[in-house]
Amino acid sequence: MNRMHRQSLVAYGQPLCETIIDCPTPHGTEVLLRVERCGVCHSDLHLQDGYFELGGDKKLDITKDRPLPFTLGHEIAGVVESLGEGADGVRTGQHAAVYPWIGCGKCAACQAGEENLCSSHRHLGISVDGGFASLVLVPHPRYLLDYAPLSPAFAGPLMCSGLTAYAALKRLADRAERGTVLLIGLGGVGMMGLAIARTLFSTAPIVADIDAEKRKAALAAGAAAAYDPADPQARRAIMSATGGVLGACDFVGSDKSLQFATGVLARGGKVVVTGLLGGTFSIATAMFAIKAMTVEGTLTGTLAQARELLALARDGKITPIPTRDRPLSEAQAALDDLRAGRVVGRTVLSGAG
Ligand SMILES: [Zn+2]
Ligand SMILES: [Zn+2]
Repeated sequence: MNRMHRQSLVAYGQPLCETIIDCPTPHGTEVLLRVERCGVCHSDLHLQDGYFELGGDKKLDITKDRPLPFTLGHEIAGVVESLGEGADGVRTGQHAAVYPWIGCGKCAACQAGEENLCSSHRHLGISVDGGFASLVLVPHPRYLLDYAPLSPAFAGPLMCSGLTAYAALKRLADRAERGTVLLIGLGGVGMMGLAIARTLFSTAPIVADIDAEKRKAALAAGAAAAYDPADPQARRAIMSATGGVLGACDFVGSDKSLQFATGVLARGGKVVVTGLLGGTFSIATAMFAIKAMTVEGTLTGTLAQARELLALARDGKITPIPTRDRPLSEAQAALDDLRAGRVVGRTVLSGAG
């Protein structure tokens, strides 16, 4: 019998462990995919911890409704291994990226096409077993997206870091028509954001990151200028270069990054927050009116947006970010490196097990 290898979360706050089970059989509309590549995302660190930092001593517990052992991994590209009798429109051997933000299909968010915001979701690698495995079960073929001629190492991460950046940047489209956009935080999502902004916007964005190596990578990838937010002169330098930015994307999501973003906004400016790093943000409430400022959050993106993004990428309009392949057995080492800030671009696990 075919066996399925997984790198599983067996206890919160503990290293992943290899678990081996029988190969699942897809039923109904389900499709079983052999994982080609699965990206390692910052949110995997939070899931492994079992909480989000809310600032001070406060933590948001996210351990509920996730039976252990659990398989992380939501940036999946794979090849169809087998399918249930009701899985129409796919064939074995077909390569696909997996839209992982799968909803219940019934709630108001799902009805509006926003399965990513579903209140009783089945998000792969978040509440249902994901792609740090040799195989993954997908509930319906509608979540499988052709990615040829892209590589699976690029296509998988497009479904989270790419989609998150794409959905966030679309919210800044009107601001980008009027001036330069600032991207803060050049991890996997930020670097994707840079590549996508180069396609969506007519002007190259400026970027900020505390890591000199990441700033260098961003400049090489076409950023107009790169700033170190830890440098006390950075805010003034951005203000004098731009007169204040109208659109900023905070891919970090910490008190410091959001302070930096709001601090360089022009009147009428908008910050979109996608990062989940943690902390508590405070600002004089009068500043919302004085600066006519908007701060809004996004969480990944919709299936329709995933299709739009993949179409752009397949047309060659999005430059792939640097990626590093590692075997599935090194999943924990990849998470450790990500936590320590040692990753430029994206690490992708190869699911062969
Ligand atoms: Zn992710
Ligand atoms: Zn729903």
